[in-house]
Amino acid sequence: MAPVEVKEYDYIVIGGGSGGSGSARRAAGWYGAKTLIVENGRAGGTCVNVGCVPKKMTWNFASINENIHIAEHYGYTIPKDVKIDYGHFKRARDATIQRLNGAYERNWNREGIDLIHGKAKFVEPKVIEVDLQDGGKARYSAKHILIAVGGRPSIPDVKGAEHGITSDGFFEIEDIPRKWAVVGAGYIAVELAGVMAAVGAETHMFIRGETMLRKFDPMIQKTMTQRYEDVGIHIHKGHKGFKEVQLIRDGKGNDKLLKLIGNDGEEIEVNEVLWAIGRQPEVEALNLGVTGVKTDERGHIIVDEFQNTSAEGIYALGDVTGQAELTPVAIAAGRQLGSRLFGPPELKNAKLSYDNIPTVVFAHPEVGTVGLTEPEARQRYGDDKIKVYHTRFTAMYYDLLPAEEKKKNPTEMKIICAGPEEKVVGLHILGLGVGEMLQGFGVAIKMGATKQDFDSCVAIHPTSAEELVTMR
Ligand code: FAD
Ligand code: NDP
Repeated sequence: MAPVEVKEYDYIVIGGGSGGSGSARRAAGWYGAKTLIVENGRAGGTCVNVGCVPKKMTWNFASINENIHIAEHYGYTIPKDVKIDYGHFKRARDATIQRLNGAYERNWNREGIDLIHGKAKFVEPKVIEVDLQDGGKARYSAKHILIAVGGRPSIPDVKGAEHGITSDGFFEIEDIPRKWAVVGAGYIAVELAGVMAAVGAETHMFIRGETMLRKFDPMIQKTMTQRYEDVGIHIHKGHKGFKEVQLIRDGKGNDKLLKLIGNDGEEIEVNEVLWAIGRQPEVEALNLGVTGVKTDERGHIIVDEFQNTSAEGIYALGDVTGQAELTPVAIAAGRQLGSRLFGPPELKNAKLSYDNIPTVVFAHPEVGTVGLTEPEARQRYGDDKIKVYHTRFTAMYYDLLPAEEKKKNPTEMKIICAGPEEKVVGLHILGLGVGEMLQGFGVAIKMGATKQDFDSCVAIHPTSAEELVTMR
């Protein structure tokens, strides 16, 4: 048999998502490394195709409906039967994403990165084989190989679970479901339940605990759970899970009918069910066994602070490592790695700091968090070293709403400070516009700001953000 040809690169990147793209572009675009990206799906990965981008566009779409209803209180005449053409919106969103796919590939091309469409697996410690999308196989080798393959949504082990959808399927929906169920209590459950509820879908959330967003500060958990209930989302708390999903009627959109049968015997009929119970790393196809790359009990690739795996010359970052599963984290880790491997000597120790990463849940309203929750801060520093500042108010935008409506639209903020110098170690905010508000405060906290530093910044009036620099 003829020897299999193996093409050599300086850097092979498996996965053209946030992390892979960020790293390849740094390595090739800045430092001229001969780089190959192997991508099995669409350029840009989860964030561009079935994550941040279509999600935020859908959040914008839903927010418009909320604003239309508020407009009435400002004196606008809004017809009672405002029509929402979700199909129109979906087509426009799809077209935007297609443009982004093209932009990713053009950027890679401009920076001299080779792109191969296909599924990669290791056949030797430093050799990958790609099942090419156009047919056939090809082999590649490099001194440095990055695994940035991301993850996929988990599906529970429930009979008939395949009749439901995950977040991937959510972006295929062409009609707003009349009545739907969302299982889970994390980022995706809260965001996607929120958008559909805001455009009129009867929404049922099934959560195991008493509150959603249980990894967040208790203030966020309590207020957001209450807020979702106040706007009419049915939250089934302490839910014991489902034993079966029955397909009562197959069909597209609201022609589809499912019966969910709970472990407690309760039954509910819905037009769709979304599983949003977390994500798992996409490692199975990689044949990691030949490399010596170690994974943890959930399959995440174990890495050190420099994104090194347990195998020399093989690195991993982004969702496949289970570290803060956020796009900017994957991009930043990828860029740092590209600089470390191919940059000048002064960058030989480049790495991403995983401390104080700001994050926003695009819920209704948005939630912003950076640093420690109050329980984490109390545990780390001791109760006597912690001072908490808290405020809750109604943003001026909602002032013209009737009192009972105003109550449903809280803005709430918490600053957690540690030590006599009152260093800010946690900031938690929810309300109108907090997603844009958090980035700047994230810089301040990353720089080690104290409460005194916050207070020394003159307020911008009238805004909600000014409360963060005037809290007593
Ligand atoms: P991915 O972006 O998932 O890229 C991995 C790529 O590898 C994929 O393109 C895949 O096709 C490819 N691949 C996999 N296996 C192989 C193989 N064997 N061979 C070749 N290619 C392979 N984060 C935010 O910061 N903000 C948000 O608002 C946000 N919203 C989100 C909403 C949803 C619904 C979801 C699901 C996620 C969201 N995220 C958000 C998270 C964010 O999308 C991820 O953290 C980010 O995409 C991770 O980047 P990555 O490079 O690790 O993986
Ligand atoms: P999350 O980890 O955020 O939430 C999953 C939740 O599902 C858990 O918190 C858990 O809540 C619940 N859960 C777990 N297992 C079960 C089960 N068997 N039955 C019922 N509920 C269960 O994962 P997501 O899938 O929501 O999102 C994945 C990641 O993607 C996020 O962690 C985030 O990093 C990223 N992301 C970021 C976004 C952003 O930046 N805006 C948006 C979307 C995703 P509990 O323990 O309370 O039951």
